[in-house]
Amino acid sequence: MVFAYDSEIALQSAVELVNSAEEPDTLTTVAELDAFLARWSYSGRRERTRAELDAVRTVRPRLRALLTAERDDAAELLNGMLEEVTLRPQLVRHDDYDWHLHAVDYDDPLADRILVETVMAMIDVIRVDETSRLSVCADEGCAGVVLDLSRNRSRRYCSTACGNRNAVAAYRARRAE
Ligand SMILES: [Zn+2]
Ligand SMILES: [Zn+2]
Repeated sequence: MVFAYDSEIALQSAVELVNSAEEPDTLTTVAELDAFLARWSYSGRRERTRAELDAVRTVRPRLRALLTAERDDAAELLNGMLEEVTLRPQLVRHDDYDWHLHAVDYDDPLADRILVETVMAMIDVIRVDETSRLSVCADEGCAGVVLDLSRNRSRRYCSTACGNRNAVAAYRARRAE
């Protein structure tokens, strides 16, 4: 494990959320938002409205900026985000997740909670100087965010689709030599 368990979950879900904005956008309906939240066992209040969905969609570029920033810039961005919200840290246990940190109230708007959860995880990342674990996909045509939690820091692609496409291209290039 590179980061605290709950930080890793928060980072993984934030990366998935950010990457949902890549074409074709896969977060365009309340049902898609439901599925995303269920996959990551998101707890807390839900509106299940278009407005809530739009708020989550709007938070994606902000998360992307935070996740892909250089360490010093990330710290500055993060401090700005912390000033926007009221923190109320609580250790909680729900679904299959053991004790972990919730930094804001269950009743706060979903998009705010997602933002804060990502911010809390990034505090971990910045403190231990591991922002290099986050990068942009090495595929030429892809801007997906990559979270590398592997021991040997070998992850370069945002998805198996991008990884496979490049493996095939590399194979062809070798054969053509
Ligand atoms: Zn939780
Ligand atoms: Zn990619």
